[in-house]
Amino acid sequence: MKNSKNILVAGGAGFIGSHLCSALVAQGHKIFVIDNFFTGRRENVEQLFTSGRFALIEHDVTVPFAGVDGIKFDEIYNLACPASPVHYQPDPVRTMMVNILGMKNLLDFANTQKARILQTSTSEVYGNPDIHPQPESYLGNVNTIGPRACYDEGKRAAETLCFDYNRKHKTDIKIVRIFNTYGSLMRPDDGRVVSNFICQALAGEPITIYGDGTQTRSFCYIDDMVDGIIRMMESEQGITGPINLGNPDEFTIEELAEKILEKTGSKSVVAYKPLPQDDPLQRQPDIKLANKILGWQPKIKLDRGLDKTIAYFTNS
Ligand code: NAD
Ligand code: UDP
Repeated sequence: MKNSKNILVAGGAGFIGSHLCSALVAQGHKIFVIDNFFTGRRENVEQLFTSGRFALIEHDVTVPFAGVDGIKFDEIYNLACPASPVHYQPDPVRTMMVNILGMKNLLDFANTQKARILQTSTSEVYGNPDIHPQPESYLGNVNTIGPRACYDEGKRAAETLCFDYNRKHKTDIKIVRIFNTYGSLMRPDDGRVVSNFICQALAGEPITIYGDGTQTRSFCYIDDMVDGIIRMMESEQGITGPINLGNPDEFTIEELAEKILEKTGSKSVVAYKPLPQDDPLQRQPDIKLANKILGWQPKIKLDRGLDKTIAYFTNS
């Protein structure tokens, strides 16, 4: 196919990565995933092998990647990092290293390939924000010594590395800051709020609200997120970001619980649990930049996205 690219997706067997790979394969590109299956699953991408344009390589990004014989990569997406506190907090030192060493190794590899590289950063770089909604210019309010810091500061350092490589080596970098994303292929034990509430509601187990449920999040459906990520990769050279990607429709966690209880018709009770330390009280992306530069805005409202996600968990 004309314009078919060789694309490396680090962390491509995870939730967002596997949806991204499906979209890129459908566009006719040749996709190579590197993943250590820490939270990712082979079955997330199994169906892509039939395309004949998909390869899955077990590899840990904290180790330098030597490449694939005969392949010159055009683009690299970095999604390799556990994203949910239940997965990134038990081994915080490793989480930090995956973010920093993993980023450095992929930036070095991008330079050997003269490839463009996109980093999936996070709204967590804003910490517990005192500016609302959060624009990219906001420098954040992260507790550097708290239990979330391994992830937040790891992601912040990864952004720094991208810009240092860009200034020093002219590496063609792109950074997106992803806000809470949900949809099919999330693991039932992912630990994030949407998958937890849906699985609990379907099983008739208590819905675990941490804190009093007044904290807010803005939830983006996976198809919109993948569209935004690819648009950023395809944006003109020199557009580095960081650019926020997320759905600005903001809900309290209590509202989310009510919606899921209603949609599933579940008789689950609500169980209030302690709010984890440093849990941000509010979060909403300012997406003016994504709209202006990428012509992007999310199309799928929370109600529709939840219906699709509930259907997925009901049938899996
Ligand atoms: P996920 O945990 O489903 O996917 C992460 C993938 O990275 C998994 O396949 C995992 O096995 C792999 N991985 C982890 N450590 C690795 C290592 N050392 N070497 C190779 N592979 C490794 O998470 P996700 O929700 O798909 O998130 C993907 C990326 O997007 C992450 O970098 C995350 O920080 C970022 N992000 C996600 C969200 C969200 O709401 N899902 C929000 C902000 C940022
Ligand atoms: N949360 C909750 N119950 C759960 C899981 C999460 O009340 O079973 C809360 C969590 O404390 C946070 C919000 O929901 O305030 C979003 O949590 P998640 O881990 O999905 O995303 P993040 O905190 O990283 O934005």
